[in-house]
Amino acid sequence: MLAVTINGDRHEFVEGTSILRALQSLGLKVPALCDDPRLQPIAACRLCVVQLAGAPRPVTACNTPLTNGMDIHTHTSEIEQLRRTNLRLLATRHTQGEHKFSLRELPSSGSENLKDVSFGPVRPELMDDSHPYIRVDMSRCIDCFRCVRICDEIQGQFAWRIWNRGDATRIVPDSGKTLLESSCVSCGGCADTCPTGAIEDKSIVTFGTPTKWTRTTCPYCGVGCEMMVGTRDNRIVQIKPALDAFVNKGHLCVKGRYAFDFTNAADRITEPMIRTNGLWKKVSWAEAIAFSAENLKRIAKTYGPDSVGVLGSARGTNEDNYLAQKFARVVLGTNNVDCCARVCHAPSAAAMKAMLGTGAATNSFDDVEQARGFLLCGTNATENHPIVGARIKQAVLRGAKLIVIDPRQIELARYADVHLALKPGTNVPLFNAMACAIVEEKLFDEATLRERVSGWDEFQQFIRGFTPEKMAEFCGVDARLVRQAARLYAESKPAMCFHGLGMTEHIQGTEGVMCLVNLALLTGNFGKPGSGVNPLRGQNNVQGSAHMGCEPGNLTGFVTIDEGCTLFEEVWRAKVPKTKGLNMMEMLDAASSGSMKALWAIGYDVALTNPNAHATTQSLESLDFVIVQDMFLNEVARACGSVFLPVASSFEREGTFMNSERRVQRVRKAIKAPGQTKADWEIICDLARAMGKAEFFDFHSPEEIWEEVRAVWKAGHGITYERLEHGGLQWPCPAEDHPGTTVLHAKSFTNGPRAPLKRIEFTATEETISPEFPFLLNTGRTLYQFNAGTMTMRTANAALRPADTLDMAPEDVRLLALEEGERVCVRSRHGEVVLPVRIVSAMKPGESFATFHTAHAFLNRLTGPARDSIVLTPEYKVVAVRIEKLADVNAQIIPASAKQPTSTLTSGHTEP
Ligand code: SF4
Repeated sequence: MLAVTINGDRHEFVEGTSILRALQSLGLKVPALCDDPRLQPIAACRLCVVQLAGAPRPVTACNTPLTNGMDIHTHTSEIEQLRRTNLRLLATRHTQGEHKFSLRELPSSGSENLKDVSFGPVRPELMDDSHPYIRVDMSRCIDCFRCVRICDEIQGQFAWRIWNRGDATRIVPDSGKTLLESSCVSCGGCADTCPTGAIEDKSIVTFGTPTKWTRTTCPYCGVGCEMMVGTRDNRIVQIKPALDAFVNKGHLCVKGRYAFDFTNAADRITEPMIRTNGLWKKVSWAEAIAFSAENLKRIAKTYGPDSVGVLGSARGTNEDNYLAQKFARVVLGTNNVDCCARVCHAPSAAAMKAMLGTGAATNSFDDVEQARGFLLCGTNATENHPIVGARIKQAVLRGAKLIVIDPRQIELARYADVHLALKPGTNVPLFNAMACAIVEEKLFDEATLRERVSGWDEFQQFIRGFTPEKMAEFCGVDARLVRQAARLYAESKPAMCFHGLGMTEHIQGTEGVMCLVNLALLTGNFGKPGSGVNPLRGQNNVQGSAHMGCEPGNLTGFVTIDEGCTLFEEVWRAKVPKTKGLNMMEMLDAASSGSMKALWAIGYDVALTNPNAHATTQSLESLDFVIVQDMFLNEVARACGSVFLPVASSFEREGTFMNSERRVQRVRKAIKAPGQTKADWEIICDLARAMGKAEFFDFHSPEEIWEEVRAVWKAGHGITYERLEHGGLQWPCPAEDHPGTTVLHAKSFTNGPRAPLKRIEFTATEETISPEFPFLLNTGRTLYQFNAGTMTMRTANAALRPADTLDMAPEDVRLLALEEGERVCVRSRHGEVVLPVRIVSAMKPGESFATFHTAHAFLNRLTGPARDSIVLTPEYKVVAVRIEKLADVNAQIIPASAKQPTSTLTSGHTEP
């Protein structure tokens, strides 16, 4: 500790504290316009000057660290005068500056210091209104460079540039033109940090500043950023990052920061509806619930409980999902319950549970700053998990090594030491080749293999057949690069692995993840900070929905039915069905064959997001009765909905989410739910009561539900709502005095002292190119849109990325005589769609990429029926396609009736 004197009083601070932070911690107000705690100090405004006893001249507090015995004076008349002079210098650029800039108006620090101060007439040449979310008025700029610094130091985008010098200094977008034309990724960091309003959120310009702030968790991806939701007159007018958030540390991406206006969408369904003779009719909740209960009872009685299935929601809370699976098991008497983890990371959970004993991320996002190397596999983190992507990018800029394994040259590949641009579908041989190089070159960790791994002798024998030289041509990568990647991963310890759906959505998804775990085991990259295997989960609560028991074979806490049923039956005072449940893919198969009759789809647009859309739609249409619970009339509702139950968004209710790093965090109500919408848990309780099971669903708040979750989930027993008020907690957290677990498998694995190495043979996909289908298509997401586009397409994100596109290499575009933006017919063995072409120079010839966010494109008409052999996750990532000019396509190929989207997202009003 350092002892210092401040204005005559003695204080102690930890080493490394700057004078400014010390003053702020004592509540001492010192102006500091260029300061932002997220950024490195640069002492540009020089308003934070203080006097040090014995020093020849004042120093700036923001960039001067405390030293032992320092004697600091903050408000002497000399210092006050110097601040006035510095402020006058800052104001010289602004015509009315001096008399408007007053020291009395400057608080100690913060992000909005001068937003209410007039800067004189607006200079139109310094205005930029191009961006849908951000207004730029550089006539208010004071050259604090916070916008430039946050873009460089936090986002790593370098979209703002400092142009010219002295009085002529200007801050301009890197396009040299408008912000919209620049490389900006719309994270809003610049608007958040700007102290003058030179860069400002348009939402508050339009709707006014918030009158209330509510802390909650982002409703989009599985990173789980915490945010402050600013509201005014029951409307969200601004969202800002929570500065002290564990995960995002004062930063958000464009979805979390700006994509909130779907809550006010004109086509939001706010009353329950029943469909009769194809038409939706508004009804009361009592009618909708009674109608649903009658039909579920009728079908279960006639065809048995296993003729009904329930799909939980990755957008719902843990409490919603816990009740959804309890409803399936206790009310319906079936284990037919699943969620969208089936189509994303079920392979990760299965592989990691089989090898390590826990099917979840081994480490924490905070480990990013401790890792010396990164292995990124099949994850486009800067687009799909942008906050983690930005943290990795910053770590690499500071010197950490980076290996990217992805068929595309994603953004992070540009920062990589090695990029293995493998052929889609060759994960297993590539990872085996890396393992082979590690074995051959003795890069393995001997102590780890001796003490914590089993099957080493057999594995060595097996893996030698996968030399990088043998696998190179097959995987489409240079053997030397494979060896280089293996060396970097093994030698840059600790090295942290992140993977995404590029690993899992294959016919060998589970086995691919096992190969990845092999690499971590061989090199000892587990059980310590900055290491491990970490699936980046797609939706905000997909980790939670599966973990709460929306899995046919697992109860809450990912325990099998055999393992858990005694405890659950004791807590529930009800029987847990022992019959084998169907997962979502099997439910659709059963619908198609006639044995599944009813489905309750909670917050999940199966029709748009499942592969092989024609077959999916046929399956859904075969059902007798379908309950759709959502905010909008989605494609399931349009295809086959019988009753529609409207829900509150996560901004309109309470509960918890679980992010990718096993962290449970609070979701809090910021605005009132519109119309008659209800939280999912309330609807589930209502339906359970109507089906005669009220005693098992006697809940009056999410916290009451959570208390039951804690009773059945030992690893979450220590997580209480009260504790969550002080920040999220990572399970295992078995007791209320347990701090939570940041790193798994530190001393032993969940299922024993040793983890097995797995010998995985390769099975090739049947999605191969042919003269008829000469291109390989990879499918995925983009930064600005989210899954089925249900929420993001109803915000101004639609202006930033309005349509699904087909990304093609310039060589292929030339070969087919196409142009940028030209609409082409894309055909696979399973269907066809029409997409506009986007020329992407980083694409490899022969490969293409398309997003799946809109019903306009309905991309999943192209994806096929192939599935992972263990957990049945569909093969979204490899589709052989033919790309044709629309003019060359016989009109018969795309008949309007069958091939046009059933509706558009933006015109989704109920039928009269
Ligand atoms: Fe939300 Fe994910 Fe973006 Fe964070 S990174 S703001 S959780 S979408």
